Amino acid sequence: MEILISEARGRPGDDPIFTINSQANARRAAGERVVNASLGALLDDDGKLAVMDTVTGAFRSVPPERGAAYAPIAGDRAYLDAVIDDALGGSTLKDCAVAVATPGGTGALVNAVMNFLEPGQALYTSSYFWSPYKIIASHNLRRVATFPMFTADGKFNVEGFESGLVELLAKQGRALVILNFPCHNPTGYTLDEGEWEGVVAALGRCADKGPIALLVDLAYAHFGQQDRSLWARKLEPIASKVTILAAWTASKSFAQYGARVGALIAAVPDEAARTQVANAMSFSCRGSWSNCNHAGLLAITSLLTDADLARSTDQERDALVGLLNERVEAFNRAARAKGLRYPRYEGGFFVSVFTPDAKRTAEVAAEAGVFVVPMDGAVRIALCSVAEKDIDFLVEHVARGVEAA
Ligand code: PLP
Repeated sequence: MEILISEARGRPGDDPIFTINSQANARRAAGERVVNASLGALLDDDGKLAVMDTVTGAFRSVPPERGAAYAPIAGDRAYLDAVIDDALGGSTLKDCAVAVATPGGTGALVNAVMNFLEPGQALYTSSYFWSPYKIIASHNLRRVATFPMFTADGKFNVEGFESGLVELLAKQGRALVILNFPCHNPTGYTLDEGEWEGVVAALGRCADKGPIALLVDLAYAHFGQQDRSLWARKLEPIASKVTILAAWTASKSFAQYGARVGALIAAVPDEAARTQVANAMSFSCRGSWSNCNHAGLLAITSLLTDADLARSTDQERDALVGLLNERVEAFNRAARAKGLRYPRYEGGFFVSVFTPDAKRTAEVAAEAGVFVVPMDGAVRIALCSVAEKDIDFLVEHVARGVEAA
């Protein structure tokens, strides 16, 4: 007799990235020099998780009886207004936006998959993508379809994006597109203005082939070099034809990975449709996690809305972005000198180096104590957790790994 339903049988209980991380920690504990570039959390140069004092203070200042109370299912109004402003401020999309609170960006992705794709249909994203997209899709009885992310000269493949989307729309009659910019995980790539324009034009041409929702995964929104409202302003011309969604999260922007504070935002110009979307998103909250960490929602609201707290949060975040940018520069210098092939990298937690045999490259690097994550065609390097002084060593051994592949 089978205990589990067929879908659940044979599911892996571990995450490959956490396995690599454990191996790195075991080697370090045994006294070896280890550079662990596997995990996506920002560490300071001493290897400690980087936190922001103002954020810690705001969490401590939440009145206990408010933090302990249930949050409204969709999240407090003040929280929703604050995250809509953070994600869409500077764009007219803000004027027609609704939102629900979710446990991190992950919850936002789950909510979008449940409401904008029929069961059995595939979400649509780039060939390099954050691997939990597949778990979220599969767990909710959906799938993933991809387009080749880069052209031969390493630019975002707008043509491939459009032709794959046309094909998918012909097959399933609707599409949920997920694009994770700025600072794409795992490649580090950020669409420039022209590339956004290309995506917008492609979406405009596809919009009569079936309903399209475009979800911009904003996990690293505060770590890019661009004006944060650029993507939203670029999308304005198609907002009447394509539903624009944003997955917002406090995990990286406030260095509060464990707080599980996020939101799914939807820009819907038509009022009746907007109410329907807001109701459906709220229904999905009730039917999954019910409501979110109320203390977290309250703390993040105060950090976004109190002018003094917002100013010092921005200053502390700028210091972390600065720390990361020094690593990005050090990586670019060393990687160019070694002739590594990797996409344009201007900031963010990760970069990926292309290699014909990623498993071999990762193994060779690991022999020297450098831990990176192998994927199809590339290894992912989490610079967010590597001190600047270790970057030359890391690049040297990744380069040896690429040569050996
Ligand atoms: N999207 C991407 C691309 C990510 O890298 C992450 C976290 O690593 C998330 C979404 C969601 O993170 P969280 O659920 O912690 O907000």
